[in-house]
Amino acid sequence: ISVPLSFFGSIGGASKRGILVKGGNYLEALANAETVVFDKTGTLTKGSFEVTRIHTNSMNEDELLDLAAHAESYSDHPIAKSVCAKFGKEVDHGRITSDEEISGHGIRAVIDGREVFAGNKKLMEQQSVSVPECGCRGTMVHVAADGGYAGHIVISDVVKETSAEAIKSLKENGVKQTVMLTGDAKSTAEEVANTLGLDKVYAELLPADKVDKVEELLKEKQEGSSLVFVGDGINDAPVLTRADVGIAMGSLGSDAAIEAADIVLMDDDPAKISLAMKIARKTVRIVR
Ligand code: ADP
Ligand code: MG
Repeated sequence: ISVPLSFFGSIGGASKRGILVKGGNYLEALANAETVVFDKTGTLTKGSFEVTRIHTNSMNEDELLDLAAHAESYSDHPIAKSVCAKFGKEVDHGRITSDEEISGHGIRAVIDGREVFAGNKKLMEQQSVSVPECGCRGTMVHVAADGGYAGHIVISDVVKETSAEAIKSLKENGVKQTVMLTGDAKSTAEEVANTLGLDKVYAELLPADKVDKVEELLKEKQEGSSLVFVGDGINDAPVLTRADVGIAMGSLGSDAAIEAADIVLMDDDPAKISLAMKIARKTVRIVR
């Protein structure tokens, strides 16, 4: 057993700063990171958005929001929480007879006996519900009821204050490329990527597509260097597992994420990622 003592010191030091490292090998891999891949929603963006617009087609605004909030009421997704916050009232669970999350797409629910879908364009396409063109900026939650398009809720996706600085710091500490993966629409994704100065962005990905993308990036990296994935654990536990170092933003409290991750950040501050990197690099330097 040749784990140098300084690793224990570093792991202890990191934990005092809200960074839980599950083993010294992850510090070493982090110090040798070549590619850092981020999930967007809840990781680089706040994940608690504000509803900025509601457009309706076949019903009034209150009815649309009521159906959407009831459909979203069982979901932990940041989008779901935003819709429920906008609704602002108690949800009547007695009205919901069925509710399922369709990963990377949205929700299917039965409310007052009506079949309701709330989610992205892909979900609407899957249900053969046509979505009218809209020049809206932001993350769209389309709502369909009884097989027809009901309207959409536009949510503004706010970048976290420390995201840009964290990305800059990673590059200064030897990371060659930063990548963002998201299930969100291309336009929204590109806006965030440009704001943050990320090297690459891949949008409209399903959870399985994210795994494929990470596999691809793993093949591209140099031997001896590593790929780090940072996510909030919602829909991305498989990618956390696949990366050389999976970092979970832990405060959302998803058990699956905490289990899948190699490093858990106790709060959702991206600055903790660059701090972890600095601790890792210092530790490895001491050891060598
Ligand atoms: P991200 O990659 O941005 O973290 P996810 O993989 O969690 O996002 O979800 C991808 C997309 O699927 C979201 O941008 C959204 O359009 C849609 N989606 C997922 N869950 C929900 C939900 N509960 N309500 C509405 N839309 C959802
Ligand atoms: Mg996510």
